[in-house]
Amino acid sequence: MKEIGHWIDGKLVAGTSGRFADVFNPATGEVQARVALASKAELDAAVASAAKAQVAWGATNPQKRARVMMELVRLINRDMDKLAEALSSEHGKTFPDAKGDVQRGLEVIEFCVGAPHLLKGEFTDGAGPGIDMYSMRQPLGVAAGITPFNFPAMIPLWKMGPALSCGNAFILKPSERDPSVPLMLAALCKEAGLPDGVLQVINGDKESVDAILDNEVIQAIGFVGSTPIAHYIYSRGCAAGKRVQCFGGAKNHMIIMPDADMDQAADALVGAGYGAAGERCMAISVAVPVGEGTAEALRERLVPKIEKLKVGPWTGGNDVDFGPVVTKAAKENILRLVESGVAQGAELVVDGRDFSLQGYENGFFVGAHLFDHVTTDMDIYKTEIFGPVLSMVRAKTYDEAIGYAMDHEYGNGTAIFTRDGDTARDFAARINVGMVGINVPIPVPLAYHTFGGWKKSGFGDLNQHGPDAFKFYTRTKTVTARWPSGIKEGAAFNFKAMD
Ligand code: NAD
Repeated sequence: MKEIGHWIDGKLVAGTSGRFADVFNPATGEVQARVALASKAELDAAVASAAKAQVAWGATNPQKRARVMMELVRLINRDMDKLAEALSSEHGKTFPDAKGDVQRGLEVIEFCVGAPHLLKGEFTDGAGPGIDMYSMRQPLGVAAGITPFNFPAMIPLWKMGPALSCGNAFILKPSERDPSVPLMLAALCKEAGLPDGVLQVINGDKESVDAILDNEVIQAIGFVGSTPIAHYIYSRGCAAGKRVQCFGGAKNHMIIMPDADMDQAADALVGAGYGAAGERCMAISVAVPVGEGTAEALRERLVPKIEKLKVGPWTGGNDVDFGPVVTKAAKENILRLVESGVAQGAELVVDGRDFSLQGYENGFFVGAHLFDHVTTDMDIYKTEIFGPVLSMVRAKTYDEAIGYAMDHEYGNGTAIFTRDGDTARDFAARINVGMVGINVPIPVPLAYHTFGGWKKSGFGDLNQHGPDAFKFYTRTKTVTARWPSGIKEGAAFNFKAMD
């Protein structure tokens, strides 16, 4: 059985804890490898070594660090197919979607090439007589990232790129479900010129996450995953005095106004609801048509499109729309929630419960589901399903529709489909959700903007990537300097009034 270890001090090393987790091929259900789960001692040793390596890296000028990112861009492009293959085989998503996963991470590395500009600081010439004042952005030291299974390339790159560009050492604890791509990225960082020890990839579960929380050298933690774990890490990390940002789960609503282009809205919903088998924090899981006529027109267009979706393994050709979900447990959880929807009175319009794929009977495939007449008290509405299940909640008015999105505990992404600019502007202004699409179903901001949800979808005050990441991974030091004659005036006992 293939064994996956850690990346420590510039090389792959085997785990020493004696604990392992299975890594599946979600298409066949077979265990294809086992990944080492680090102990606290292994994590602490990797952090100590990273802290030593950080000293020289932090003192390297920002442009030289940026050149490592520039080379990393070239290497990721060179190995795009290899990375996407490894990604699909452990995650299950289609090959083009796996390339998209790598691509959206790569774009943040491209943005990091401009790090010297973002790290310039601020300067006031002549803040007082003979006085200059300047602020520097300095690295934190050692930072850590804990990432989810659903974007095993993109999210590690979102974390490591800015953290490293700012001069930090970085400890990445990726998801134990699909650990290979983060290790491949670490090897590419070395090839790009990153000194050994500056990036450590430690595979593991709760034990290594708790070791990160307890480690006093680690100054900051960036987490992405489910909301209960996000809240746990945010609370414990903040209590330990660390800088913490945690991004959690989602239930993204798409509002369809009566004036929307219904064909466009239906296409958008199918892609955003079922792409990647719904395993996206920006997936649309709730469609809210406004008015009975809109609901009927939308449903009429949606059903045949959903029934035509091709579910299959990533090796099944370019016309596969989505693959299996990540584990058997994930599949069971989705099907349990579908049963609850039926039991609680929602209308199951497209029923994917009996889906099975010839030759892949043990794979973790789930067919597409569509529920209509869903109400806000149902578990399928309240819970993040993270599977190919779309719920339709009918609203009588725009205000009722926006109210559903506003009242939901999650606030990651949302969208409105309309031809009316006034409605779109009102929606963007009032909605209490972090990322908003107007006739765009999955409004993931590009690398030079920031990504983050509101309410229970995000804990902490800075977003991921874009300028916020450079604030998160640095701290400000402000220097007040007086040259050369101020002290000749003698001691000053009071703060000076402004002349
Ligand atoms: P998860 O919370 O199970 O795991 C995320 C990370 O936390 C993994 O590295 C895992 O090893 C670790 N972890 C799991 N259980 C833990 C525990 N008890 N104690 C400490 N650490 C633990 O999430 P997942 O299933 O890997 O990913 C899916 C979730 O991530 C969904 O809820 C999805 O919405 C969310 N997500 C959010 C965003 C965002 O930006 N808001 C992006 C992608 C995914």
